[in-house]
Amino acid sequence: MSVTVRFAPSPTGQIHIGNARTALFNWLFALKAGGRFVLRFDDTDVERSRRDHADQIEADLAWLGITPQVVVRQSERSALYERAVERLKEKGLLYPCYETAEELELRRKVRLSRRLPPVYGREALKLSDEERAALEAEGRKPHWRFLLPNFKADPFSPTRTEVHWDDIVRGPQTVDLSSMSDPVLVREDGSFLYTLPSVVDDIELGITHVIRGDDHVTNTGAQIALFEALGAEAPGFGHHNLLTTATGEGLSKRTGALSIASLREAGIEPMAIASLAVLIGTSESVAACRSMDELAARFDPASSSKSSAKFDPAELQGLSRSLLHEMPFEKARERLEELGVSGPKAEPFWNAVRGNLDKIADAGFWWRLVHEGPGKVDLPEEDRDFFDAALELLPPKPWDGETWRVWTDRVKEKTGRKGKALFKPLRLALTGRESGPELAELLPLIERESILAGRS
Ligand code: GLU
Repeated sequence: MSVTVRFAPSPTGQIHIGNARTALFNWLFALKAGGRFVLRFDDTDVERSRRDHADQIEADLAWLGITPQVVVRQSERSALYERAVERLKEKGLLYPCYETAEELELRRKVRLSRRLPPVYGREALKLSDEERAALEAEGRKPHWRFLLPNFKADPFSPTRTEVHWDDIVRGPQTVDLSSMSDPVLVREDGSFLYTLPSVVDDIELGITHVIRGDDHVTNTGAQIALFEALGAEAPGFGHHNLLTTATGEGLSKRTGALSIASLREAGIEPMAIASLAVLIGTSESVAACRSMDELAARFDPASSSKSSAKFDPAELQGLSRSLLHEMPFEKARERLEELGVSGPKAEPFWNAVRGNLDKIADAGFWWRLVHEGPGKVDLPEEDRDFFDAALELLPPKPWDGETWRVWTDRVKEKTGRKGKALFKPLRLALTGRESGPELAELLPLIERESILAGRS
């Protein structure tokens, strides 16, 4: 079967760099294997899930360079989950429970005080038909638990039952099914918790590899049991380490912190985000990759560390800058056009300014500058006459890459100024700024009249 992976966000907010890590691990895994990528929205929680969040997630992924072959929404697939529920009930693997959250909490405390593991004791499995009917007559509605296969003959005496898998990221893993509670698959109101729809969809969509955060490792034990209960072979699994903020806090979709949208707003290059999201917390050194193919070549899920990785937004700035500084014009062309940078000057202009940009939008400033000049620049008193003298020496158009040198040599000779005293006032008068792109490259693009605007 060809490799099929999925990224399964719940659309409850904006995806952040940590979610991007999961999406990219899957995307690159599929890219390397020539496989398919499914985007699955886990939107069974109707109160918290929103369509606009889902649309934004799709747009954010596309901006990062991830374009799913298939998009599905769990909210449109309940018939499949209902069928699975029926199957499990028929097999006696899904049983009704009536405890309230308070009752469960009380039992948990009692178990802990008796030094028993705080797992569900399957009390509801002991209820007779009459007892169940009495509870329902009281108005209680059942929630439904999956009977984990962690016992020999007696479900009330679980025995150590190991589930093994060879994790794509973490290597050989073992989870003991007797150490966990039977998971609730269906809520009292008939809605599904994450586990069942996830497994049903993974079967239904032919997912061959499930790659997700390591907060799901324990779930995987129960999910493998559920795959088997539904008559399917479990896929391969990979659990990557999670990203935290520089101060060690987890990232959350709901707070919007480090969201992909906010990073895009801030002008960070998508491949800078992708490179950092993938390479951080691995044994690979972090460097800005120019394309997904380049990143795929450096991507090795098994090189991820097992502990969480601290993410420093300042590193993103540096990566983004280094991508811009060597970005070929063709790659920047469309975005430059949006900034009004077009025409025959656009390419030499780009080559002149790119090495100086923090973000591509800043090119707009330099484009206006070469056309309109810096406006009125207040040169320090002592530089005014110097600049007037320099203007007299400015060679006539056309200008080329040599003009700046020729001009400044003449000015140097005539005025006796050199070094900073020579260059600083010229740059300031020409651009209104003390630093910026190489003037040798910028000068030929500047309109002569705009230079006169720098004369105070
Ligand atoms: N919606 C789940 C999450 O965001 C998906 C986990 C999975 O990939 O199975 O945690």
